[in-house]
This record gives sequence, structure tokens and C-alpha cells, in this order.
Amino acid sequence: MILQTFIADNSALRDLYEHTQQFVKKELIPQVKTIEQQASIPRALWAKLGEYGLLGLTSAAEYGGQALGYFAQVIAMEAISSASASVGLAYAAHTSLCIDQLSRYANQQQKDTYLRDLISGKKIGALAMSEIDAGSDVMQMQLTAQRKDDTYFLNGHKMWITNGPSADIFVVYAKVIDDPSSAMPQSNLTAFILESHFTGFERAPKLKKLGMCGSETGKLIFNNCPVPSSNILGEVHKARHLLLRGLDYERLVLAAGPVGIMQSALTSASSYTHQRKQFNQRIANFQLIQAKLADMYTALNSSRAYLYTLAQACDQGRLTYYDAASVLLYTSEQATKAALEAIQCMGAKGYLESSLVSRLLRDAKLYEIGAGTTEIRRILIARQLKYQYAHVRSSNTS
Ligand SMILES: Cc1cc2nc3c(=O)[nH]c(=O)nc-3n(C[C@H](O)[C@H](O)[C@H](O)COP(=O)(O)OP(=O)(O)OC[C@H]3O[C@@H](n4cnc5c(N)ncnc54)[C@H](O)[C@@H]3O)c2cc1C
Repeated sequence: MILQTFIADNSALRDLYEHTQQFVKKELIPQVKTIEQQASIPRALWAKLGEYGLLGLTSAAEYGGQALGYFAQVIAMEAISSASASVGLAYAAHTSLCIDQLSRYANQQQKDTYLRDLISGKKIGALAMSEIDAGSDVMQMQLTAQRKDDTYFLNGHKMWITNGPSADIFVVYAKVIDDPSSAMPQSNLTAFILESHFTGFERAPKLKKLGMCGSETGKLIFNNCPVPSSNILGEVHKARHLLLRGLDYERLVLAAGPVGIMQSALTSASSYTHQRKQFNQRIANFQLIQAKLADMYTALNSSRAYLYTLAQACDQGRLTYYDAASVLLYTSEQATKAALEAIQCMGAKGYLESSLVSRLLRDAKLYEIGAGTTEIRRILIARQLKYQYAHVRSSNTS
């Protein structure tokens, strides 16, 4: 109902919603169990995402994109995540982290080379910033790039990279060493476009995780890996802004993942409690259970209202870093709560490792960690409030 209100006047978004639902029902739901068991998304599903036009929602039509914007991206992300949070996460890494960064910052030649295959689903994309010792403090990354003629040689590693084990195209953040004898400044970041067949590039076996098991996560290793200077995204030493702004868009789009999880938790809890009988009646007749369902419904729709409002603001060029942090903070914590409540509503059945709601809990927890932890998001919001307070105070005293 909330979404219908937001998209009532926009036929392109209504159409997108309809055919995303078709993709989910026809192509995704039949494969979810296999994807979770095999811990991998079939290449054919990426091609289907491409056929349904879901991979280039924020990209220009000349590269096969739909140019519909971030609200469209959020609608697709929520629908996919309500069927499979794992596929939703992989989808966000491919579209929002890789394709969207290339669409915004790549030059004409780079867009010509990379975007069409990513948007058609022929190639899989990823973005690599985190390292073992550079998580929350990502600016401490140690992957280096040293120039020799027209080539940069990358040395080091990246960790926790979604789609890392099978992606073909990576946006990789590194520090270019101009003078090997001097310390590297924190802000010295350069983004490179890397192809998986480049020599000296390797991947460690994919990681086994608590949740998001269908989405592949892995470590990347760079051993004197040559990247042509024509593959620099933006300018040398100037990628700090790309990384930080990219995180804002990433947080907005990722916030739709927990919303999809909440929808799935509510649907499961409602369906079970309206069928399960104890004390000779349906447990949904008990007011303590009704309160849980009502609270889950309210958290879901308040999350949606916040998310859709920010997605619209983003399409109007008004997404702030603190709102991006805030919406992911809110929806991720609400999703974990919703999954816990769904387990509670289902008792022992919900507690089974094989139950959908226990998978939702394991999947939801990731959203409190990835793209900046809940602690880091709170720090960003509090920093803005402190700034606003100081600003108001100084204008009152002047
Ligand atoms: C499944 C998965 C997929 C991922 N996908 C990607 C990807 O595609 N690309 C990519 O680049 N990265 C990816 N990441 C990495 C992710 O962004 C990092 O895990 C995240 O930034 C946190 O870093 P960390 O895990 O090293 O935790 P740490 O930074 O070590 O944090 C550990 C704890 O300390 C807290 N902490 C740290 N600093 C502070 C502080 N200043 N104040 C208060 N508390 C603090 C944290 O909040 C957390 O609770 C992924 C991670 C996971 C788990």
C-alpha cells in the first residue's frame, strides 16, 4: 500500500514493480533453495536479470540501462530481497556498487568497454575496498599501486568482497605510491577497473558465512597485477570522494534489503499464526501474538516510508551522507528484530536451522555489519547533529 502511494503518479515505476514481481515469481523463487545449498548464483540468473532490464536501472539507455534512478533501484532490491536476501545482496554489489560507480565516474571509453556486458548480465561486477586490517577504518587500506610507464602494478589484498569469487569486473580502491620512501597519506586513494583475467590476480576459496549463504564472499589477492592507466576510474589520488559518495548510494540501496527481509518475516509469521492451533484456537487469536504481528507491520511500513522518501530525495539530488547512514541503520535493526519475532511466533518450528525465518535472521544480521557497521552509522549521524548544533549556536550568538 505504501509503495502504491509513492508510485501512483509514475507509470514507469509501476511497470518496473510489476515486471520485478514477475522476475521474482517466475525466475527467482524456483531457484532459491538451490542457490542457498550451492552457495552460488547461476550465471543464467544474471542473464535473466539482464533480460528483465533490472541491472541498469541507474544507467543511461545508450549502454542498455533504463535511466530510472535510485527509487527504481530500491523497488527492485526490496522485491528481490523478499524472495532471497542473498541474491539481493549480490544484486546490489553488481548494480549499485559496480555498475552505478562506473555509470557515474567512468569516462566514455571505459563505459563503452564495460557497461553493456554488466548491464546485460553477461559479466558479473563487484567493488573492493575492505581489507583484513581496514574495515571500519577503510582509509587505512594497504593495497598499493606503483606506476611503470603506462601501467600500474597492484600488490596486496582485499577481503569480504561480495561476488568476489566469480566476478569478471571489479572496481578496486588502492593507494598509488609516488615515492616509495615516504609514508602514504590517508586520503591518497585511486580507483581502478580490473578484469579478472589480469595476470597476478587471484581469489582465495569463497568464505563460509553465518547467513547470506547464496551470495559469494571472498578474498582477492594482487601479486604485481598490471592494470593499464586507461583503467583508472576518475583521477589518480582523487578517489576518496568516489568511495565516500559511493557509500551513500550503496547504503540507500542496501536499506531496501532489510525491508524485503521484513516483508518475508511478516508473511511467514502471519501465515503460521493464522493456521497453528493451541488451546483449541488459532494462536493469531491471542493478543500477545497479535501485538507482535501489529508491531512487525508498523516497523515494516515505517521503514518503507523512510526509505522511499529518501530514494525520491536521492533522485532529486538531495541524498545526504547522514540520512543514507540513518536509513540503513534503521531498516537493518528493524529487520533483525522482525526475524527474531517471526521465530518467536513460530516456536520450535521457527528455531529449526532449515526454517525460512531462521535464515531471515542470519541474513538480516549482515545488514548491521556491511557497508559500515551500525556503530559507524551512528557516529556519522551524531557527527552531523554536532555540526548542526554548533552551527545554530554560532548563528545565535553572532
Ligand atoms: C557478507 C559481507 C559482504 C561484504 N561485502 C563487501 C564488499 O562487497 N566490498 C567491500 O569492500 N567490503 C565488503 N564487506 C566488508 C564490510 O564493509 C566490513 O565488514 C565492514 O565495513 C566492517 O569492517 P570489519 O568487518 O573489519 O569490522 P571492524 O571495523 O573490525 O569492526 C569490529 C567492531 O568494532 C566496531 N568499531 C570499529 N570502529 C569503531 C569506532 N570508531 N567506534 C565504535 N565502534 C567501532 C565496529 O562497529 C564493529 O562492531 C562485506 C562484509 C560482509 C560480512
